[in-house]
Amino acid sequence: MARVYNFSAGPAVLPEEVLQEAADEMLDYRGSGMSVMEMSHRSKTYDNIIKEAEADLRELMNIPDNYKVLFLQGGASQQFAMIPMNLMKNKVADYIVTGQWAKKAYQEAQLYGKANKIASSEDQTFSYIPDCSDLPISEDADYVYICENNTIYGTKFKTLPNTKGKTLVADVSSCFLSEPVDVTKYGVIYGGVQKNIGPAGVVIVIIREDLITEDVLPGTPTMLRYKIHADNDSLYNTPPAYGIYICGKVFKWIKKMGGLQAMKEHNEKKAKILYDFLDESKLFKGTVRKEDRSLMNVPFVTGNEELDAKFVKEATAAGFTNLKGHRTVGGMRASIYNAMPIEGVEKLVEFMRKFEAENA
Ligand SMILES: *Cc1c(COP(=O)(O)O)cnc(C)c1O
Repeated sequence: MARVYNFSAGPAVLPEEVLQEAADEMLDYRGSGMSVMEMSHRSKTYDNIIKEAEADLRELMNIPDNYKVLFLQGGASQQFAMIPMNLMKNKVADYIVTGQWAKKAYQEAQLYGKANKIASSEDQTFSYIPDCSDLPISEDADYVYICENNTIYGTKFKTLPNTKGKTLVADVSSCFLSEPVDVTKYGVIYGGVQKNIGPAGVVIVIIREDLITEDVLPGTPTMLRYKIHADNDSLYNTPPAYGIYICGKVFKWIKKMGGLQAMKEHNEKKAKILYDFLDESKLFKGTVRKEDRSLMNVPFVTGNEELDAKFVKEATAAGFTNLKGHRTVGGMRASIYNAMPIEGVEKLVEFMRKFEAENA
């Protein structure tokens, strides 16, 4: 067996221990005589799995009792519609557009009401986070929307925007559980799990209870109402059962690693190794304004497309995979999520140093 160092932006690397445990339980989950994949989602055994996953997530993120945790399907992208359908009571929302995912959410919201772009960093290829301390928040905005970590561009909000009292909604797909978070600052926190938590197919929505109402936009399908899922503890219909089971294992792994503060320290240490190298390198350079750099996604370029392609090719051959950057940024991107070990980043930097020397 040869595991590579997988720098994919998503679906992405998962802790090896979790995969091994899932493999061990594949044919017979703890004496049940079946795989979790084959199990009724109404069984006592499965009920324990989903309840324990929720309890562990609540503990990790210190989620207050007045927030619901929903395990849903449809990916993060389905939330681009579900959020306005459920939250746009006044049919007005303010969007801060810091990348492609925020832009897609902003465009989707326009199908349902008046979505205002109140700030953007598109003028410089989304390479920074705009100043959000005093934005023209709409008087009647139902919420203010951000994408907290911009997976493609490698930027992260280091301070949350001043929403002037309006509900904050955040897509945290690519920074979920990467550091401690104050849930009370948000109305809704959501993310697809395939970046930092588990297999594609699950999206987790953490939502304040007062935002869950019957009062949704006309025509909102039953499956797209938060209330139906909240009232049924995410078991209104068959949930993505196996995916939730793996997420639960990752929550336990993070707890064992010391929780979110320990994750943050681990992630800062990894990111520093790579950013320090980029700052001193004569060949490679980071593409993001320093103060806005993400701990999770690190884009970089050589400034020469042919050399970028050569680097990606040689890196892949050496066991460092999925380093090709997004087509809108070019160059490279190393996604260094929770499960990427420090050695992976150290060895990548060692490889980059060698490449630099050979191509000077
Ligand atoms: C990957 C990603 C998405 C899209 O997720 P899907 O589950 O494929 O819909 C949305 N937002 C962010 C920040 C992402 O990284």
